[in-house]
Amino acid sequence: MVAKIIDGKAVAASLREEVGIAVEHLKQQTGNVLGLAVVLVGEDPASQVYVRNKAKQTKEVGMESFEIRLPADIPEQKLLDEVEKLNHDTKVHGILVQLPLPAHIDETKVINAIDVAKDVDGFHVINSGKLATGQGSAMIPCTPMGCMILLRSVVPDLSGKHAVVLGRSNIVGKPMAQLLLNASCTVTICHSRTQNVQEITRQADIIVAAIGRPEMVTSEWMKPGVVIIDVGINRLPPEHEGEKPRLVGDVAYADACGVAAAITPVPGGVGPMTIACLLANTVKAYAAMQQTEIPENLSKQLG
Ligand code: NDP
Repeated sequence: MVAKIIDGKAVAASLREEVGIAVEHLKQQTGNVLGLAVVLVGEDPASQVYVRNKAKQTKEVGMESFEIRLPADIPEQKLLDEVEKLNHDTKVHGILVQLPLPAHIDETKVINAIDVAKDVDGFHVINSGKLATGQGSAMIPCTPMGCMILLRSVVPDLSGKHAVVLGRSNIVGKPMAQLLLNASCTVTICHSRTQNVQEITRQADIIVAAIGRPEMVTSEWMKPGVVIIDVGINRLPPEHEGEKPRLVGDVAYADACGVAAAITPVPGGVGPMTIACLLANTVKAYAAMQQTEIPENLSKQLG
């Protein structure tokens, strides 16, 4: 078997195009430019790259981008005050606080200080609760949301499929499992304490790997024809001197390609979807504030 490669770059580009159209449409309809604020605390190099990419893509879809850069030693209360300012800023319709935060700051407290209506990362406890219970319309965390769009591009009807999610973080594993359950999959969640994990994954029609362990999931973990969504982003030292570090997923890609029916590459799979979904969530947030619908084409892409 030769796996179909799920092209996250292309799907994300098409989603960003629809977001751009929606932004323009909402501007015509309401007279407002949509605004997304990203708060970055400290100088973590990976976070700086993410924030730069987010700002660039925000502007490309016609939204206003606000970047709030704060020192690593900022007291927690000052950060909470900044979030509160953004909550009241009428030019800001989406707020994202880049994680991880420095150790002296309570991440949960900061996330829950964001206005639920502007919580475009979907990490606020009310949004998690809405996702879990189906009460009202939840803001869905961007990475799992992107995974679902990619998954549906190859498996349009997920009902009854056995999906195994590797990882149980609040950011990826748990909301991913919830979304799969909401799509009527039979869901198994595995984590670092799971016993005989390979026996479980070998029963899966779908594997979503989000463990942060480079190339751990090999073909031995898979039944032929499985669909693989690889969320992992791991940096390995370069193979040869002078080269850049290598980015690999949690799945041994070349090995898996011989067994899986479809697979997301790393890079170029789930990664590009995350920012595209963040932008889509900002459109959703603004439309909800205005009590209007998002354009049908965008709504279709979000599934
Ligand atoms: P976390 O470290 O928060 O969670 C990792 C999870 O994997 C934990 O639940 C852990 O179990 C589980 N785990 C670790 N080792 C094993 C193992 N050997 N077998 C089974 N389960 C294991 O990571 P995140 O969820 O934040 O991220 C996961 C990966 O996804 C990372 O590589 C990260 O870089 C990537 N990522 C990619 C994004 C993208 O945009 N593409 C966005 C976010 C993350 P336990 O709970 O028991 O410790």
